[in-house]
Formats: sequence, C-alpha cells, structure tokens
Amino acid sequence: MESPDSCWLASGPSWTQGDRLLPGRADVCVLGAGVMGSTLAYWLALAGLRPLVLDRNPSPAMGSSGRNAGRVIQGGNAQHAVAIDKLGHAEALAIYRATLVNRDLVREVTAREGLDAARTTTSKLDLTDSEEEALELKRTAAALQADGIAAEWLDLPEARRMFGTDLPDTVLGGLHRPDQDAVHSVAYVRGIAAAARRHGAQFGLGVRVTAVEDAQDGSWRVVTDSGEVVADQVVVALNAWTGHLLPELAPVITPVRGQLVQTAPVPFRIPQWGLDRGLVYGGQNQDGSLLLGGLRTTVPNRDENIELPEDGNTPAFSPELAERLTQALPALLPQTTGVPVVRAWSGVMAFTPDRCPLVGAWPGRAGLWVMAAFSGHGMPYSQVVSEQLAERIRGGAGKSIPTAFDPGRFL
Ligand SMILES: Cc1cc2nc3c(=O)[nH]c(=O)nc-3n(C[C@H](O)[C@H](O)[C@H](O)COP(=O)(O)OP(=O)(O)OC[C@H]3O[C@@H](n4cnc5c(N)ncnc54)[C@H](O)[C@@H]3O)c2cc1C
Repeated sequence: MESPDSCWLASGPSWTQGDRLLPGRADVCVLGAGVMGSTLAYWLALAGLRPLVLDRNPSPAMGSSGRNAGRVIQGGNAQHAVAIDKLGHAEALAIYRATLVNRDLVREVTAREGLDAARTTTSKLDLTDSEEEALELKRTAAALQADGIAAEWLDLPEARRMFGTDLPDTVLGGLHRPDQDAVHSVAYVRGIAAAARRHGAQFGLGVRVTAVEDAQDGSWRVVTDSGEVVADQVVVALNAWTGHLLPELAPVITPVRGQLVQTAPVPFRIPQWGLDRGLVYGGQNQDGSLLLGGLRTTVPNRDENIELPEDGNTPAFSPELAERLTQALPALLPQTTGVPVVRAWSGVMAFTPDRCPLVGAWPGRAGLWVMAAFSGHGMPYSQVVSEQLAERIRGGAGKSIPTAFDPGRFL
C-alpha cells in the first residue's frame, strides 16, 4: 500500500528548480538530495566548489528526510552511559560532542540562510517504566554531567511537571536534556538545498543513477538514465538504497520501515520524548499537533529487512502499524483520549549492525566517499558530518567525524 505524504511534504515549500540537463563534468558529484546530500552540497558550495547533486525525485527531501519526525536530538543511537560501555569514553564523547556541534551548526545555518521559521528549540525526556532502564538513564545523567553536558534524572512527579500533561503511573521517571531542536523537515532540507544552489551547487533532479564506475584515470563515471557525468569525486548519500550502487555495503545496510501518526492540535505543550529505549517516541509540531512513532519491534519480521522499492520513496505503508500507534496514544498520553489521528505515513531507515552510520572515504578507492545508513538517527549529524566531509573532500582532516563512523570497518 502506498504511503500517504508526511505532514512536512503536505505543508512544505515546493521546489521549482529541477534541471534534467546534466553537465558532462563535475568536481564533486553527490548522489542523493536528502538532508545528507543537500547539506554536503551546501558546505562544498560554501567552500567554493560547484558540486552536482543527483536525485531521482523531482524535488529534494522526498525520501526519508521529508518523512521523519523532524527531531534534531543530541547524542548517538545508544544512551551515553551505554555508548561508553560499548565504545569507551573517548569515542562515546566524540560522538556526543559531534551532535552538540551539529546543534550549533543547525542554528548557525538556519539563521544565516533565513530558515529560522523551520526550526524550534525544545527539550527531550527519555521516559521508562523499567527499573533496569531507569538505572541506565541515571548512569547516563551522571556521565553527561561529568562531561559537562546538561542532563538530569527526573522522578515521575517532576517528569509530569516537565511534560505539561499527565503520564501513566507505570512510568518511573526520565532523563531530561534541555536545548534540543526540532525542524519542519521539508522546509529545512529544501531551504538548505536552495541555499546550496545560491552558493553555486547544481541539482540534477528526476535523474536516476544506475552505476558508479572507476574511470581508471583518477576520475569517476556516474551513469544515469539521463546520460553520464565524469566527476573527480563522488559521494554516495542514498540512505537504504546505497547498497544498490555499492553492493559491497548491501550486507551491512538493513532497510527498516518507520511510521508516524499525527494528531489534530492539542491545547498543551510537550517536549520531545521516548519511552522504553525509543520503542515509542514522539514530539509536537509548531501547530500543536503531536507525532507518535515507533512500535516497530512489536511484531517480529514485519518492519525490518523490508522490501525496498527500486524507485519509490518508502516501503509499503502498514495500516496495522498505524492502527497500533493510534491505539497506543491515549494509553501513553491520557489527555489525548478523543483527539483524532489525522495523518499517518511511512519512510525507510537504514540500519548498520553497530547502529553507527557510514561516513568517510572508501578505503583504497581515491575519490569515492559514503555518507549513509544513519540508523534512524540522521538529523543529529547532518550538519557536522557534512561540514567535516566537505573539508576532507578538499584535502583537510575533517577531524570531528567520529572514527566509529568509518565505512572501512565493514570493508
Ligand atoms: C518515520 C521516520 C522517522 C524518523 N525520525 C527521525 C527523527 O526524528 N530524527 C532523526 O534524526 N532521524 C529520523 N529518521 C531518520 C532520518 O529520516 C534519516 O536518518 C535521514 O533522513 C537520512 O537522510 P538521507 O539523506 O541519508 O536519506 P534520504 O532522505 O532518504 O535521501 C536519499 C535520497 O537518495 C535518492 N536515491 C536513492 N536511490 C537513487 C538512485 N538510484 N538514483 C538517484 N537518487 C536515488 C532518494 O530519492 C532520496 O532522495 C526517521 C526516519 C523515518 C522513516
């Protein structure tokens, strides 16, 4: 079943600047006009290059970047204390710090490019009803405080106060982190793509890429359904479709369906939140409507390793998952009883085995770069990894990309 459009695609600015005429050459060819490809093009263009961005869609942000929950949260996929256990303190802190730099860059870029209306500041409350997770969240609060990052554990009464509406008695409390951002995903990504274009990037939209070939002369040939482009460097930013062009990466990229439901506006304000290690999560839009997503592991084999359409933007929409999310809402937020769900949609996420993305050079193939598989967590990195990858592409060190993201770990 086709997914309906997201609330962002339905209300976002349209893009009228598509161009199917491809230049024969480009200094850097960026594949994919999601948040990753568009933001990388922005930083490359700011640095004086003339990147060419190719996407099969007629507009940027029609893939997952225009179908997500718009939460630009901080921290990696795992809670900080768990990341320290897994990766060691230095690497876990490098990942967390990257997301703090990202937050600052999101604010800097939206202010500089006239996109302030696409961004809001909020806070994040990770709730739990399990003693085991409560310990993990308390350890995370302590670890973040020790690293000088604002975070605190709140017991249920304080969490209720912070939440602005009731929470079930089963909730034990939550980890509160202030100063998080949320964006109107389509206004944000198309705004950055338009800024990239103003600064000199070119967009080839409605163009399907079929192969990336080593031209054996120090350049790369990008084969498309509209002709070929020869580029000095190529960056593959195709989310879950990355394995279609780079088959060596297919075994480590699992396509996962994500779905969201949106309610009518409610008269109270809530922060961004997650429950049970993000099993369910949500937030609130500027118009007061609530978003609720997740529940994907509740039915085995339904949402993971899903079939990825070659040309579509999302896996099949699951009415059953939408129904489960709709039913879960009043149980989690009692004051939403009777508030109608007005929209539901799906998108695809690309998970790696270690839940860290693939960002960096392809080892041994000079000029080939990857920026993909953000494991459901792309917005916290999109600015920082793009700015730093643009630096690496220009021959610099790009040191703020955590080493845990190196694609070479799987190659
Ligand atoms: C329901 C849902 C909720 C989410 N919520 C959040 C959230 O709140 N916060 C967060 O950080 N992350 C969230 N995510 C994840 C986030 O959306 C992704 O990490 C992010 O959008 C990835 O960006 P991207 O540019 O890599 O991918 P995309 O936006 O999918 O871009 C990839 C592009 O590649 C193009 N493409 C693919 N194959 C080809 C080809 N052969 N030729 C030409 N073009 C091609 C596609 O058309 C697409 O435009 C969510 C995801 C989903 C599905």
